[in-house]
Amino acid sequence: MIKRVKRECLHCSEQFIPKTVTSVYCSEQCGKKAYQKRKSLEKLEQKRQDLIAKIPEGKLFITVPEAVLIFEIGRETLYRLIRKKRVPSINEGERLIKVDRAALEEMFPLASKEKAQKKETNPYLYDLSIENCYTIGEIAKKFQLHDTSVYKHIRKYSIPTRQIGNYVYAPKGEIDRIYNGIID
Ligand SMILES: [Zn+2]
Repeated sequence: MIKRVKRECLHCSEQFIPKTVTSVYCSEQCGKKAYQKRKSLEKLEQKRQDLIAKIPEGKLFITVPEAVLIFEIGRETLYRLIRKKRVPSINEGERLIKVDRAALEEMFPLASKEKAQKKETNPYLYDLSIENCYTIGEIAKKFQLHDTSVYKHIRKYSIPTRQIGNYVYAPKGEIDRIYNGIID
């Protein structure tokens, strides 16, 4: 006999009893809303990419708004990194702090353009075999996060997942990489 364990809806985060092993949303409504959200996120992402394309590639130091746009990090996180001198920065006058783009690229590899393109052209880049994956629960425990935060980061960084039974798996390499950077 299969005992179904409650799962968290990927849209509303409510606990629900899945109808099938692959159910990730608590209701049809949440499924539809998630689809609409995905569509509008795709539009926003396109806008973001258009804005990023306008930032000259050769610029070694970029402004805080540019860094926020490219690396999708919070302003506060970025200022914290600057204060702690974890990211080289230059101050071109009051309110005109610029940060080292290459250092940020190293810190947030998944957000860098090259990686994103690579990901698109090679979907088999990820090792989704169980021995090379964490479950969401394991990730939450290892990095001391709430499950919902883990799901948010997985969506934010477009990390592929795989579901087997009641467990959602994500590749260890990618997870370690995002949490080695600084996540809000
Ligand atoms: Zn729901």
